[in-house]
Amino acid sequence: MSSDSSRLLPRSEELRERALKRTPGGVHSNVRLSGAQDFIARAKGAWLYSVDGRDYVDYLLGQGPNFLGHAPEQVVDAVAEACRGGVIYGGQHELEVRASELVCRALGWADMVRFGVSGTESVQGALRLARGATGRTKVVRFEGHYHGWLDNVLTAVRDGKWGAASAGQLSSHLDDFIVLSWNDADRLAAVFEEEGDQIAAVITEPVMINAGVIEPLPGYLERMRELCTRHGAVLIFDEVISGFRLGLGGAAERYGVEPDLATYGKAIAGGFPVSALAGRESLMSRLGTGEVNHSGTFNGSVMATAAVVATLTSLFEDPPYERVAKHGNTLMIGLRDIGQEYGLPLRVAGLPPAFHVAFGDAPVTDYRSLQQLDLARYERLSKALLENGLWVAGRGVWYVSAAHGEDELDAALTRFAAAVAGEV
Ligand code: PLP
Repeated sequence: MSSDSSRLLPRSEELRERALKRTPGGVHSNVRLSGAQDFIARAKGAWLYSVDGRDYVDYLLGQGPNFLGHAPEQVVDAVAEACRGGVIYGGQHELEVRASELVCRALGWADMVRFGVSGTESVQGALRLARGATGRTKVVRFEGHYHGWLDNVLTAVRDGKWGAASAGQLSSHLDDFIVLSWNDADRLAAVFEEEGDQIAAVITEPVMINAGVIEPLPGYLERMRELCTRHGAVLIFDEVISGFRLGLGGAAERYGVEPDLATYGKAIAGGFPVSALAGRESLMSRLGTGEVNHSGTFNGSVMATAAVVATLTSLFEDPPYERVAKHGNTLMIGLRDIGQEYGLPLRVAGLPPAFHVAFGDAPVTDYRSLQQLDLARYERLSKALLENGLWVAGRGVWYVSAAHGEDELDAALTRFAAAVAGEV
C-alpha cells in the first residue's frame, strides 16, 4: 500500500503513526516506502501474521532472504547456540572457516570468499578488486540491473538517459560506468572492440530478477565470458538474488558459465544479514595481501557465519530445489489459468523459484522491453493481493521458499482469484 494507511487496522495504524514520528517515511529502507504497511507480529514458514491478526502467504520473503521459510529452526537454533559463546570477537573463529569452505564447495568454481553484511557492500568489494587487479577504471553494466544503493551503482532513467537516481548522489561516481542494454552480445562486443583495454570489469545479474525476471538468451553469458577473458576484464556475477536460490551453485551453475568474482547475499543465511564476495584465488588473494582493502567490523561475525553454516548444511543435506520448482511451476500455471478465466492479459514469466507477474504480452529480453508491459496495472493489483492476504511486491517479482507447500498453494490461488475477481 502506498503511504495511504487508511485500510490499516487499529494496532498497525497506531504503530505506523508512531513510526512516522521517529523514522523517515516510517521505514528503514526506501524500498519499503511502497508496499504493505501492515505491522508484522511474527512469521513462520511461508506465513506472516500481522499485529491485528491478519495472515498472509508470503511470496516476498523479506525481498528474498527467507529461502528456507521464516524462522527456519535449524538456522535459528544454530545462531542462538553459537551466540551464547559471544557474537563478535575482533578475531578469527572456526565458524568462519567452515562457512567459507561450505560456500566454495557449493559454488564449485570459487576458491575463496570474504563475508560482508549487505549485497551492496560486497558489490563494492568486487568492483574495487576488479579495478585493483586490472589497473583499469571502466566498468560495463546493464540497464535495469540493481547493484545496491550507493553513488556509483544506483541509477534511474531521466529524460531517456541513465543517471543518478537520488538527490545527493554524486553523479560523477557514475562516470566510469558504461551502461548497455542487456542480452545484446554484439553491442557488448563492439564496446570491447572500442575500449577493451580500459575495461576493468563487466558486472551483471546473470539472470535479471530484481526489476523483473528475464533469462539470458542462449549463448549470451558464454559470449560475455569469452569477451572478458579475451580482453583481460573481470567478469562479475551479481548473484545477490540468484545465489543459493536457483541451486547450490546459483545462476553460474544453472547456465554453465563461471565468473571470476561473484556477489551473494539474501538466501545465503536463512534470513540473517550476510553477504559474500567469492572468487578465484588469483583475484581474491589481493585482499589477503592488503593490496586491495576490504573491511567491516561485522564481517564474519559468529551470528553471520553460524547462519551460513546452518543454511548451507541444510541445503546440502536436504536440497529443497525440486520442491521449490514444483511449487513455483504449479503456482505459475495456476495464476495464468486464473488470468485466462477472467479474460485478463496476465503474464507470468521467469523461473519457478523467482518469477514475474505483469500485464501485457510484449516479448521481453531486456529492461526496455520489460517497460512495454503494463507494470502499473500489476502494481494496482498487488494492493488487492495484499488486501486478500498475499504478501507480494508491487513490482511483480514473486519468490518461492522451501516452506511453501500444498496448503500455501491452495491459499495463494484462492486469494489471488478473489483479488482478481474484485478487480474486474
Ligand atoms: N544486487 C542485487 C542483484 C540485488 O537484488 C540487491 C538487493 O536487492 C543488491 C545487490 C543489494 O543488496 P542489499 O540490499 O543486501 O544491499
